[in-house]
Amino acid sequence: REAATRELVLGRIRDVPDHPKPGVVFKDITPLLADPEAFTALTDWFAGLCVRHGATKVVGLEARGFILAAPVAVSAGLGFVPVRKAGKLPGATLGQAYDLEYGSAEIEVHAEDLAAGDRVMVIDDVLATGGTAGASLELIRRAGAEVAGVAVLMELGFLGGRARLETALGGAPLDAL
Ligand code: AMP
Repeated sequence: REAATRELVLGRIRDVPDHPKPGVVFKDITPLLADPEAFTALTDWFAGLCVRHGATKVVGLEARGFILAAPVAVSAGLGFVPVRKAGKLPGATLGQAYDLEYGSAEIEVHAEDLAAGDRVMVIDDVLATGGTAGASLELIRRAGAEVAGVAVLMELGFLGGRARLETALGGAPLDAL
């Protein structure tokens, strides 16, 4: 079943060379989102991981992670928590800065959305360097919650994200379709 899902879903990812800058092959998920069979199969795959890893909450990483994680939360009967770029969330937040190739970025979560006793599954479309996912794991731990795992549609293995996340995962699983 996972092999069938992989074929269906990955067949709907469009490679866009040199976007948003020369040398980057952008993984465009919009054809997948427009195909209800593929989108449903992917949602079921993510939801199955949430159950297997005992998640009680689902975090989506801005922006494509929101689109993927929200139906997973509904399907699995779990709460959805957005992790956003700094300055977007209106309430009291926890923030975490992380390094980019040039410069740095910061993400935030509403402090009241995560607490001790939560087991959190982080969902995004692409794991590249692992910087964003790693920072989200720091936020989850600082909020007192546990990490159930990280799940992504695609892992760009040549960028070494899995190795970079190893410490932050602390033994929690990283699944990539
Ligand atoms: P990183 O923090 O380097 O792992 O980058 C992860 C974030 O950047 C994810 O939220 C992805 O949506 C986005 N991203 C990075 N590389 C790509 C790519 N080649 N295609 C599409 N999205 C990407």
